[in-house]
Amino acid sequence: MAAASRQKAKITRKVKPPLFRVGRARTGLGLFAVQDIPERKLVIEYTGRRIPTKLAQEIDRRRANKYLFEIDSRWTIDGSVRSNLARYANHSCDPNTEAESNRGRLMYRAIKPIAEGDEITLDYGEEHMELYFGKAGCLCPPCVDIAKKDVAKSATKKKKRKTSKAAAHSRLNVGD
Ligand SMILES: [Zn+2]
Repeated sequence: MAAASRQKAKITRKVKPPLFRVGRARTGLGLFAVQDIPERKLVIEYTGRRIPTKLAQEIDRRRANKYLFEIDSRWTIDGSVRSNLARYANHSCDPNTEAESNRGRLMYRAIKPIAEGDEITLDYGEEHMELYFGKAGCLCPPCVDIAKKDVAKSATKKKKRKTSKAAAHSRLNVGD
């Protein structure tokens, strides 16, 4: 009897292989796809204690908890608990998931196909970046690439597409 129910539990676990793992990223830890994830698929839920958004705003004013994720004007999820693996998803200005709220829950949904091994990312939004990103600003791959290209461009004195880059930079430097 016990053996049979153990086996059953094993089979149930096998049915849903995880979509991601926590691993080393450019800046600390990150979340990585362990299989191809199609566009529109729900990837992970952002879990934690629900706290009133008013309280969350006070905490943010003190920059005391970077894992607060606002659902709406009433409720915010405090995702600082370790069991909330979604908190390991890093910010990108060109993300592959988007957060959506549904009946008080927050889910990250793929907004483009994610290949096995790709880092799972989300745009944290300007407010979060202003509060919690240091002087170095955004270090996501698209931003680092832009910075690298700018260095290369100024060395060769080519000025192609300068306007769009300048716009991108001013957007990222808000609040510095
Ligand atoms: Zn960026």
